[in-house]
Amino acid sequence: MSPSKLSPARQPVFVLVGGTGDLALRMLWPSLAMLDQDGFLSDDLRVVSVAREAVAKTEFLGRVQGAIEKRINKDLEDGTLDRFLKRVSHVALDASDPEWGNKLKAELGDIDTLDIVYFLSVSPTLFKPICEHLETAGLSRAPNRVIIEKPLGRDLASSKVINDSVAHAFEETRTFRIDHYLGKETVQNLLALRFANTVFEPLWNAQSIDHVQVTVSETVGTGDRLGYYDDYGALRDMVQNHLLQLVCLLAMEPPSNFNSDALRDEKVKVLRSLKPITADVVKEVTARGQYGAGFAEGHQVAGYEAEKGSPSNTETYVAIKAEVANWRWSGTPFYLRTGKALPSRTTEIVIQFRAVPHSIFGAAAQPNRLVIRLQPDEDIKLTVMNKAPGLSADGMQLQPLDLSLSLTNAFDSNGDKPSRRRIAYERLILDALNGNNAAFVRRDEVEAAWTWIDGISAAWAEAYPKPQLYPAGSNGPISAHMLLERDKRVWND
Ligand code: NAD
Repeated sequence: MSPSKLSPARQPVFVLVGGTGDLALRMLWPSLAMLDQDGFLSDDLRVVSVAREAVAKTEFLGRVQGAIEKRINKDLEDGTLDRFLKRVSHVALDASDPEWGNKLKAELGDIDTLDIVYFLSVSPTLFKPICEHLETAGLSRAPNRVIIEKPLGRDLASSKVINDSVAHAFEETRTFRIDHYLGKETVQNLLALRFANTVFEPLWNAQSIDHVQVTVSETVGTGDRLGYYDDYGALRDMVQNHLLQLVCLLAMEPPSNFNSDALRDEKVKVLRSLKPITADVVKEVTARGQYGAGFAEGHQVAGYEAEKGSPSNTETYVAIKAEVANWRWSGTPFYLRTGKALPSRTTEIVIQFRAVPHSIFGAAAQPNRLVIRLQPDEDIKLTVMNKAPGLSADGMQLQPLDLSLSLTNAFDSNGDKPSRRRIAYERLILDALNGNNAAFVRRDEVEAAWTWIDGISAAWAEAYPKPQLYPAGSNGPISAHMLLERDKRVWND
């Protein structure tokens, strides 16, 4: 098993702040255990949980074990739990305790011999006090690194406050901002598809691509996240991060190499090229919706305002015609949409190629389409036109044929057993342990994304203050369909 690649002489430690929380139990503990099972953790890696609750060691390990078993189930091999749980300890510390840093230091031992990765799986309101504690106790010094996750603010100004408080303790190269979409196998495969093949790149532009669609739809409503969600809405909760990150990977220029800054330099250029959406066009190029009463997931849904118990202008659905205003993409819109209480749980990118310039087969020759699916299954399919086999009295018949370009569902890299669907956090935790930040979001990306999103929020406040109702379980508000209809296109449903 490989020692830490970043500082092999030091003992690696993963400090999970918020180790008793929902994100930790559902995603992070199972990810760590799976990395251990697959031999990616250094033999001497320790995992220290820090949280407010005082929990006896056996009870804590029982909770972690239960969470791992629940998530991994049949893929858990004999011996994994025993080996993994030996690495784990828990310390109860409240972030309001001025001695937080010193108490953690006492738990960790001689910090000059350690290579520590902190995962702050707590509310961003705690990032500032926790980073201050780490700094005061000398725990934030290089090579130590910090992982943080959204919500990184609700606009540019508040995101700067959060980033500043983290930057005081950890410089940018040691700050790892997670967007878990970037850890997904198929999203990484998108980079391989674009930059490890010659067949797509010459076509990857406005001359050959008619438009792009990015859809993230959820069947659930806001549930117990309503309190948080009402202050954010779909634009801030989903578009600012996940959807724009996908747009970056789709629209970026080929970087000169695969190092983290080369890659992120190209991503940030995409964000800065997004055409601002102003109040005079906002009703034409965006759709805002809020789910009302209806049926979703087989249950009657009362509607967002009824669930909240008071009026709200928060959108639970957004669709946007985004334009990347540069030479490569001029004239090729990127249609983005995301929403809750919709009929299916889907995350999908559709690259719609243009029609052949002159069809000798009439309308039967449909344009090619590349569909990249992240949910519910991960797959990449290229639809090409093909001759329907056999004879026909009417001459040659055509049919679309889906070519699967993804082996994710078939075999692992050894080719000997069906591959397990990895949790996106596995890849990201492994990269952070090894000090590789290519799949993490740089501060200038976060800020460029907020700048564009803030423009839309301001335009909505001025010209589109109320979302349009759509019944729960339907395909979203009428305005979302009009958005494409105006351009003589349809959503891929
Ligand atoms: P949670 O409320 O379930 O857990 C919070 C953790 O923080 C607990 O371990 C708790 O002990 C600890 N904590 C709270 N106050 C503390 C204090 N004063 N001092 C020390 N520890 C304290 O929250 P969660 O759902 O796990 O989310 C954690 C963060 O991750 C949030 O910012 C959330 O928005 C973000 N996030 C969560 C998810 C998810 O699926 N749950 C997904 C993406 C992002």
